[in-house]
Amino acid sequence: MIVVMKPGATKEQVAHVVDLVKDYGLKEHVIYGTDRTVVACLGDKRMVDKGAIENAPMVENVVPILAPYKIASLEVKKEKSRIEIGPGKFPIGGQKVGVIAGPCAVENLDQTLDTAQAVKEAGCVGLRGGAFKPRTSPYSFQGLGVEGLKILAKAREETGLAIVTEVIGLEQLGAVVEYADVLQIGARNMQHYPLLEAVGKTNKPVLLKRGMSASLDEFLLAAEYIINAGNSQVILCERGIRTFEKYVRNTLPLASVAALNDRTHLPVVVDPSHGTGHAKLVGPMSLAAVAAGADALIIECHIDPEHAASDGAQSITPKALKDLMPKLKRIAKAVDRDM
Ligand code: PEP
Ligand code: MN
Repeated sequence: MIVVMKPGATKEQVAHVVDLVKDYGLKEHVIYGTDRTVVACLGDKRMVDKGAIENAPMVENVVPILAPYKIASLEVKKEKSRIEIGPGKFPIGGQKVGVIAGPCAVENLDQTLDTAQAVKEAGCVGLRGGAFKPRTSPYSFQGLGVEGLKILAKAREETGLAIVTEVIGLEQLGAVVEYADVLQIGARNMQHYPLLEAVGKTNKPVLLKRGMSASLDEFLLAAEYIINAGNSQVILCERGIRTFEKYVRNTLPLASVAALNDRTHLPVVVDPSHGTGHAKLVGPMSLAAVAAGADALIIECHIDPEHAASDGAQSITPKALKDLMPKLKRIAKAVDRDM
């Protein structure tokens, strides 16, 4: 349930409600909006005397949260969350649409720095690149590990771009937190609940990718795990789902962008690279994603896609990225956003 405070409620009055909620054995999550404060109450509500909370000073009402996910829900927070990433503190979820681009994997220093320069020049806000790679085959390139993280940190130093990189397991979390600006949770790990709780205990923004067979409710409940563990900085990423279709690597359901925006205050990012598997489909689907209401894009971009260590087929060149940006700007403008 949510306790909605009246406009103008003081910090003490909110604290009083929090104490009451805790007395009932519930966990609280306070959201300070521009207009009013709400206290989301999580846990078993059977023993709660709703009337007693309703009578507390400056409480407007107490309402149930109908969605299975609670604090991720629009019912609890009506304003979109803005999550600042990287040294430039670019807000994902604000008026501006951001683009994050970079290779699937960090392969070496030169490749990463050259890509980072191109990504920066194209006008992107973040550099993606996996140092730890979750590969389908154990024989495929598994990433450079900590050395890759150090290369990414160097790229940030040179460009000021926010570094987005994946954390594939609990063992690597400490190292990734040390170097990354945004912790990516991959599709394969969307339901790795101990990992979700662990990133929820960090203070870094998390880019949570949708599992390839996850429903939107399961996706949002995965986000809820992170927020419930203490970290509200969750960015959702639609990266396509498995279907019977063979023309694409994954089917990119852009209706989910609009549906998520209708259900949650969390920013929504689209990955048209994994979402299609084909470089030539990345541009059109990027434009469509922005039109559908995406807050940002995460695109695979490689200086030499033909020789990429992973996902070359879906990686666009720096030139294609540069050519795409003005088109994206025009679409953003058409849907009352900026870039
Ligand atoms: C990636 O971003 O390179 C990646 C492995 O993505 P996903 O988890 O969506 O498959
Ligand atoms: Mn990839």
